[in-house]
Amino acid sequence: MLEQYVALRDEIEAQHSGALLLFQCGDFFETFGEDAERASRLLNIALTHKSSKDFSTPMAGIPIRTLDSFVERLLGKGVCVAVAEQMELPGAGLVERKVTQLLTPGTVTEERHLTADENYLAAVATGDGYALSLLDVSTGEFRCAAFGSRTALYDELSRWRAREVLLAPELSENAALLSDFKSRFPLMLSHGNFEDEACRGALVAVLGEVPGVLEQHSGLTRACGAVLNYARSIHTGVQGGDLKMVRRLSRFEPGAQMRLSEWALRALEIFTAQSPQGRTLMDALGETRTAGGRRRLRAWLRSPLLDRLSLEARLDAVEALTRASDLRGGVRALLYRAHDLERLAARVASARATPREVASLARTLELLPDATDLLSSVSGAGLLPGVRARLGALPDVVRLIRSALVDEPPIRASDGGLIREGFHAGLDGLRTEALGHRAWLAELERSERERTGIGSLKVGYNNVFGYFLEVTAAHLSKVPADYRQIATLKDRARFTRPDLREREREIARLEQAAERLEVEVFTELRAGLSIHAEALSEAAGALSELDVLCALSEIAATRAWTRPQTLEDADQTVTLRQARHPVVELVSSGTFVPNDAELSPSRRTLLLTGPNMAGKSTYLRTVAICALLHQIGSFVPADAAHLPIFDSIHTRIGASDDLAGGRSTFMVEMHELAGILHHATPKSLIILDEIGRGTSTLDGLAIAQAALEHLHDTGAYTLFATHYFELTRLEGQLPGLINLHVAAEEDAGALTFYHQVIAGAASQSYGVEVARLAGLPARVTTRAAALLSGLNARDEAKGNALHTELAALDLTRLTPLEALATLHKWQGEL
Ligand code: ADP
Repeated sequence: MLEQYVALRDEIEAQHSGALLLFQCGDFFETFGEDAERASRLLNIALTHKSSKDFSTPMAGIPIRTLDSFVERLLGKGVCVAVAEQMELPGAGLVERKVTQLLTPGTVTEERHLTADENYLAAVATGDGYALSLLDVSTGEFRCAAFGSRTALYDELSRWRAREVLLAPELSENAALLSDFKSRFPLMLSHGNFEDEACRGALVAVLGEVPGVLEQHSGLTRACGAVLNYARSIHTGVQGGDLKMVRRLSRFEPGAQMRLSEWALRALEIFTAQSPQGRTLMDALGETRTAGGRRRLRAWLRSPLLDRLSLEARLDAVEALTRASDLRGGVRALLYRAHDLERLAARVASARATPREVASLARTLELLPDATDLLSSVSGAGLLPGVRARLGALPDVVRLIRSALVDEPPIRASDGGLIREGFHAGLDGLRTEALGHRAWLAELERSERERTGIGSLKVGYNNVFGYFLEVTAAHLSKVPADYRQIATLKDRARFTRPDLREREREIARLEQAAERLEVEVFTELRAGLSIHAEALSEAAGALSELDVLCALSEIAATRAWTRPQTLEDADQTVTLRQARHPVVELVSSGTFVPNDAELSPSRRTLLLTGPNMAGKSTYLRTVAICALLHQIGSFVPADAAHLPIFDSIHTRIGASDDLAGGRSTFMVEMHELAGILHHATPKSLIILDEIGRGTSTLDGLAIAQAALEHLHDTGAYTLFATHYFELTRLEGQLPGLINLHVAAEEDAGALTFYHQVIAGAASQSYGVEVARLAGLPARVTTRAAALLSGLNARDEAKGNALHTELAALDLTRLTPLEALATLHKWQGEL
């Protein structure tokens, strides 16, 4: 058996290096050797040893029934898994085993291994800059883009959150590049085939051609070919499926969407919170009712729009649905019953759908006419008419599935009993015939009782003998001559008859034939459905979009959000009245303090000061999130909003350590700042929080001021929160800079936060008070307060004296020597 294991292990290693092999041994899946050590570490399962006189090997196993959950955990950790199953029942010799599944994080399609979120496999190649391709085999979505810079590529990769990435050799063989890549994306890296010919071949095999959008771009051709090569090798190699769900490739222009840097996605906590218990914007928008809707909402958040008309179309739709609450409720009630149409459509197209999934498809399609009817009353509203038209109805598909399948079919076609009566004449024939024989059996008991005069005679069935006639001991003398005894029990005996055997064989034959035929009929049905794949995925897309629009309207209506007015150009005044942070507001249960914001060319740099914990970060993020929501076509959490179309949102918030990357906090901070300063345009929105914190005060202050001046001069709209009070002096010097502060009040040594943003600079830093609130011993805080007032007083007294003396100097009469002497004296006083 171990020899067989080693052979399979080698086979898998050649096909997919690094995959972990789960090897069925009876009721367990076992791993041996290095795999066992790896599995025990990754899955936290016991490591044992298998020993005989010749060898000893580590071994770790899991019970068969837990396979799915363990596979899911392995995939989640970025490990590929091969499953070798026993192909026959254990007999005398060695049991035959075959690899039946090869699963990788980026290529799984089985619902049980997937979360509802999108699941991208990505490939990156070079050639005219960087080329990226993204494939979600669970829905058939396939797209690509080219980038001029590595930063743009990184931003895009983090937007899509690919679960598995293939790097072309020119990238993976460059050690520096590879380590940079790994430090940013702790995701699964796999090897792909990027060879030109193979890539073109894969494109032709899947799409029928090398699409025109790839023309002249070898990097794109290789990236797109590589994902297909890889997915095909996994799917066709082992699982026997194909990539029929992939029908079209779309090339997107990274510049056609708002630029949201990797840092901004993180800092604004769009998809992932910065603390384990934290909630994300995605959580706060969690009103979608379908998995497809949820994926679509994530896609919108990833790619905010720059195009005014598309933006207005979404906003018009959201507005219409916000007003029509009955309609919205009706549509949402329908959506609640919908299955994941995008994935079902993909599974039908690739001939993987189970009977139960095909039935779910019909159930979901049956909802469409009602949705279309409901939407007829808002047909003038932005995106809605288009959505309604694309929803279609596909009555033929529903009719076909309904007439073919029973209402609750089994999971596997081979389980039988899935095809409805009256759908297939041959199948009906077989069933009727089998039924005739069964009727004969049912009748047999009655007729034999009559014939033999044994009132207690019974017809029974068991797995060993099949059908038999049973007579109790008292009546054995009455048994007729054509009965043959097959079993004797304590108080009764069992008999058979040649014609009984024959009937039984006939029933078995008919039933088997019917079962086979059912599988055939189902396979044909599914193949027939795949010609509707295009229409299905169109409807699926429309349903997802409708779900997002309804979710956004539901939020707008129930949380008093408002429709933002889109400003014509960036020079107009940006205003937010009574804006709230959508996530903080949700968790602060009614105590959230709304704030206004105003930005214009003469107020383009807002410098925000105030004590720690006053609400500076929250204010900054509120503005950025409102801008983002506006550009996905959502209402915003404010009483009124006028917002321009920002070309990018950049953020630098908090001092997040990048320990994995081995870079210091300050280095990370400067790295991010560099990115922002390079990319800021007059149409950017920039959020900076506590820049310069990671280094000494003077360095930090100098860098913060220089960066602030630079951003001010680019014309970008900047919100800058800082604890450097020295910066507030810039208000008179930079014409577009305005001081703001967050109100807090000190009363009897205690600090009250009002979370209210008001004009002007804060008066002091309150650091000591916050330390007191945080529970530092009174001795320490009192001493700190004394030191601080001493320092302040000394500085102030000294400053005043210097100022007076300087003002009194008569420069027209001062000799160079006297000037030097004065400077010397002042220096001595410092
Ligand atoms: P800072 O950046 O000034 O240190 P934060 O923005 O991190 O302060 O806010 C500190 C805490 O105050 C947050 O945990 C938040 O819950 C609360 N907070 C901030 N802004 C508001 C507000 N406008 N209304 C109510 N609570 C707020």
